[in-house]
Amino acid sequence: MKAVIITIGDEILLGQILDTNSRFMARKLAALGAETVQMRSVADQKDAIWHALDDAFAVADAVFVTGGLGPTKDDLTKNVLAEYFGTELAFNPQAYAWLEEMFAANPKRMNAYNQSQALLPRACTPLHNLKGTASGMWFEKEGKVLVSLPGVPFETESLFPREVVPRLKEKFHDLLLRYQMVTVYDIAESDLAMKLADFEAQLPAGVGLAYLPSAGFVRLRLTAKGRAVDQLDGQFQKLLQALKGLSFEQASRETTPELLARRLRESGVSVACAESCTGGNIAHLITSVPGASAYFKGGVVAYANEVKENVLGVRREDLEKYGAVSEAVALQMAQGVRHITGAQWGVSTTGVAGPDGGTPEKPVGTVWIGVAGPNGAEARKFVFSHTRERNIGRASLKALQLLLDAIARR
Ligand code: ATP
Repeated sequence: MKAVIITIGDEILLGQILDTNSRFMARKLAALGAETVQMRSVADQKDAIWHALDDAFAVADAVFVTGGLGPTKDDLTKNVLAEYFGTELAFNPQAYAWLEEMFAANPKRMNAYNQSQALLPRACTPLHNLKGTASGMWFEKEGKVLVSLPGVPFETESLFPREVVPRLKEKFHDLLLRYQMVTVYDIAESDLAMKLADFEAQLPAGVGLAYLPSAGFVRLRLTAKGRAVDQLDGQFQKLLQALKGLSFEQASRETTPELLARRLRESGVSVACAESCTGGNIAHLITSVPGASAYFKGGVVAYANEVKENVLGVRREDLEKYGAVSEAVALQMAQGVRHITGAQWGVSTTGVAGPDGGTPEKPVGTVWIGVAGPNGAEARKFVFSHTRERNIGRASLKALQLLLDAIARR
């Protein structure tokens, strides 16, 4: 199924609001296995809407329109759709019954404008809007579909999965999609693409590979659509073969913080972090997963040496002898935060995020990561990149991975 999304509204074209409806619907359509081939925003004007519909039906099996359903004069969508489908607006008893339900608690509040929401093009099937007065509309013509939904995002976000998705599944039988994911660590997207060139070249029609890069890792999504879904598992095994020699995890759909959250919960242990160069990013990643209070004790951002010494108990002699970016300091930071918070596990970072501050022995990107647990502490050195943002991202993620490894080995 090929889809076109049209959003109607002068506010979008004036830059007063951002069109989030298209993104919402495109995501839902992609998850269904439909291919959105175009998105377009047009003015609340008859000609503009009409031309957009003509263009859309030339390339799409289904057209999704939002906006312009309000009862006010500037909302033209219903009138244009009625004319486009060769009918007129008529009183729709079903839509009126929904309005009555909505105003049941306070019938006096239903005014003439509200009542006019029950006037719909004869040719449509009304779609029940539980969050507002404008019904959605479903039209069919020559095997194609047009769906018209309100502009207000929370109305469309409620209507789409409830009223539209089931109808689409019934109408378009090729809406079938499955995917598998794998996360590959410590490799640039372009290097990975070169390594996977042969694998990609042999992919059958209907199966595709997407690269989703982040700092320190690339997630790969192998997607199969329609009849090709039967080939997904076989192709995924080939992909894993092609990744041999790299560090990868047959990622569940979980991100590293989500995976850590699950492991910490399962093993009933808690964690705390002592961060220098990552500046609180590890704490942010851990707490970005809902429910983190069950296993996260807290964190110390120990940027200055005094804080490393006075709060975390790092020995001054070691700071002076080895420098803040050193194995000794990373170990003591991890042990220190474990000690002061009472967490079973402590994780630490100390490094040179850049862009300045590097030396020949400790260039920009050098980071020591420490992990302390019930059986002692260990630290490892990494040299990431020249970019501050990437260094912070990669060091934070690596710290979570080392913590996961340490918990798994225990
Ligand atoms: P109403 O019943 O409120 O009149 P409507 O279907 O007529 O709804 P519009 O008048 O076009 O919709 O838009 C209502 C509000 O919804 C806009 O003021 C805007 O804030 C928001 N909106 C409209 N279109 C979009 C869009 N594509 N993305 C995000 N927000 C939108």
